[in-house]
Amino acid sequence: MKCPFCNCPDTQVVDSRVSEEGDSIRRRRRCLECEKRFTTYETVELRLPQIVKSNGYREEFKEDKLRTGFMRALHRRPVPTNLVEDAIGRIKQRLLSLGEREVPSRRVGELVMKELYKLDKVAYIRFASVYKDFQDVDDFSDAVKEVKKPAPRRRSR
Ligand SMILES: [Zn+2]
Repeated sequence: MKCPFCNCPDTQVVDSRVSEEGDSIRRRRRCLECEKRFTTYETVELRLPQIVKSNGYREEFKEDKLRTGFMRALHRRPVPTNLVEDAIGRIKQRLLSLGEREVPSRRVGELVMKELYKLDKVAYIRFASVYKDFQDVDDFSDAVKEVKKPAPRRRSR
């Protein structure tokens, strides 16, 4: 790491220790050029990626949105809430483990479909075909909304 004082590229770690909580490493460094000392911290980066929508817009990952999607897909299906929460947890873990800053929403949609498949085949089949035609979770949620609406009654003459 370069020296923040003189920009010299060569600095030396003179001391490093793990924090009491064990979740970060503090390093004392010394510049080989100007001999000034500075401290750096190393921590785990666990941040959910930005979601890139099909129209190119980015947005924060929203857990509530994901939950709403699941609830719509599983409307009137006998699936316990805790299993849905587990599924959401797995999707979040998966997104975190990718270590990417940005993930296409299509990918999130695929993860949702995978979980739906495990949760309830009817919900999966009901929506897999619908989802295929859509590019992201928003479209998907809208489609599900459509499906949920009661079919318009035909007027008899
Ligand atoms: Zn320096």
